[in-house]
Amino acid sequence: IKTIGVLTSGGDAPGMNAAIRAVVRQAISKGKKVKGIKRGYAGLLDEEIVDLEAKHVSDIIQRGGTMLLTARCPEFKEPEVQQQAAEICRKHGIDGMVIIGGDGSFRGAQKLAAQGINTIGIPGTIDLDIACTDYTIGFDTAVNTAMQAIDKIRDTSTSHERCSIIEVMGRSAGYIALWCGLANGAERILLPEKYNYDEQKIVNSIIENRKRGKKHYIIINAEGIGHSTSLARRIEAATGMEARATILGHMQRGGSPTCKDRVYASTMGAYAVDILCEGKSKRIVSYRDGKFCDDDVDEALAMTKDISDYQYSIAKNLSI
Ligand code: ADP
Repeated sequence: IKTIGVLTSGGDAPGMNAAIRAVVRQAISKGKKVKGIKRGYAGLLDEEIVDLEAKHVSDIIQRGGTMLLTARCPEFKEPEVQQQAAEICRKHGIDGMVIIGGDGSFRGAQKLAAQGINTIGIPGTIDLDIACTDYTIGFDTAVNTAMQAIDKIRDTSTSHERCSIIEVMGRSAGYIALWCGLANGAERILLPEKYNYDEQKIVNSIIENRKRGKKHYIIINAEGIGHSTSLARRIEAATGMEARATILGHMQRGGSPTCKDRVYASTMGAYAVDILCEGKSKRIVSYRDGKFCDDDVDEALAMTKDISDYQYSIAKNLSI
């Protein structure tokens, strides 16, 4: 490997900059050149390619977002476009690629590897919805951001003796919802993985809690369930308790990354360069059972993981 390309793709996540910085500086320490590709696969096709030196990644470790920008690129699913992308890499002398993104981005990486470019993926998503890894870049920052926002909503919710439905991100995964539910002591957590919840039971529990003198009722609703505003209206009508919905939205994707996100993203960025230099390709950098490791992309994409039934069950006991 002589020249390593790096791009961020799919949804951005705090800590991606730390990973980019680590890729650049670890590669330079090994005598490699680095090229940054702007706007994900779309920018690769448009040849938005810039040389990255150590100084270009200074002052970014503490910043959210991604200095390389990100974009979706639906046409990357077409084989002729993938072939064209590999040719562009070769034209620019890029013989190794590091792709920071989610499952969709890894499918693109898989295809690029099949076209002869040595490619390594790094899991970057606030949703934690990548099966091969217990950690994804940005999740820690996102749950801390959401947790702090929910604490604030809880203060005012208690003062007004309201029910608050707070919708957190996570696409079809409920990890952010479950973690915030536990961290914020929510009365209810609605997860896409456990969609069979009974609205009448929620209504009954709100009425019961009120009788016991509870001054608020916090429901964390996952994005994968949605409809928070209509849920609030139905709850208010059925219980007589004022109910408000707050959709936290994109604030959860921004902000300065936590220490954990900076350290893990830095480690994964450096690790990706190390395995590229060892001649590995078509791998995903993972963190599993307390260790950084790497998996074949096909195997990584075929893995599944479940949200913790135990944590979900204790959340109910702890919010009494
Ligand atoms: P994420 O990487 O966060 O899961 P997306 O699912 O939007 O985000 O995927 C990001 C990009 O990866 C897409 O815009 C597309 O360019 C590329 N991609 C997604 N799926 C595939 C696929 N099956 N084959 C090739 N490229 C893909």
